[in-house]
Amino acid sequence: MTEPETSPDTPNEASRHEAAPGESRAFAADVARLLHMMVHSVYSDRDVFLRELISNAADACERLRYEAIANPDLLGDDPKPRITLAIDADARRLTLEDNGIGMSRPELIEALGTIAHSGTKAFLERLDAAQGDTANLIGQFGVGFYSAFMVADKVDVISRRAGSDEAWQWSSDGKGTYTVTPVELAEAPARGTRVVLHLMADATSYTERFKLQRIIKDQSGHVPVPITLIDKPG
Ligand code: ADP
Ligand code: MG
Repeated sequence: MTEPETSPDTPNEASRHEAAPGESRAFAADVARLLHMMVHSVYSDRDVFLRELISNAADACERLRYEAIANPDLLGDDPKPRITLAIDADARRLTLEDNGIGMSRPELIEALGTIAHSGTKAFLERLDAAQGDTANLIGQFGVGFYSAFMVADKVDVISRRAGSDEAWQWSSDGKGTYTVTPVELAEAPARGTRVVLHLMADATSYTERFKLQRIIKDQSGHVPVPITLIDKPG
């Protein structure tokens, strides 16, 4: 197994302020701000986190399909896109897995440590103008991956990029820092991304199958990738 990272490449200004270099990295300032808002959100429609995560999973499948046009080997023996939602009520855990493109270590750091995304940037700009009417804006823009922190007090993202022989885990409690550590291939999806939501005490209803089914039907009915709901991941 690889050693935990010791010399992080510095993707942005903020990561130089990490508490313990190589272990814990600071989010870029605008991400920290967004996360604070998610964690303290008074936004009532928390269901949207699921729409955001499913949409990311579907995007990842689409990106794989696209890259596989030039490089069919990326599909291996698993060509059909899928999204699986696994419920573990006892562990108070909801896990979303896709067999899409996955993320390399630098991609994890860039995608989940900074705000490189036009939608979220626009959200933050509008937020300054809206002076506190966050609920309305969250509904309008969707805030992507970080909305997971409306329902989870810890999020793990385990990812293996298509064609790569490495897998990485990103973890955060959404409170300013995150870690990125190598994981054994056996602990990771064969390809793609697994997002593990450690649900807050007041978000345990997101382990109810019927509730999830209803939310998926209402919000993600148009998603072109089949979504399977299973109980208790192995
Ligand atoms: P957006 O989807 O608008 O780009 P998000 O905050 O939802 O913004 O996601 C940020 C980025 O994280 C995505 O652009 C993508 O690069 C990466 N990402 C998130 N989830 C996944 C996933 N399941 N598979 C691969 N990449 C992902
Ligand atoms: Mg998204």
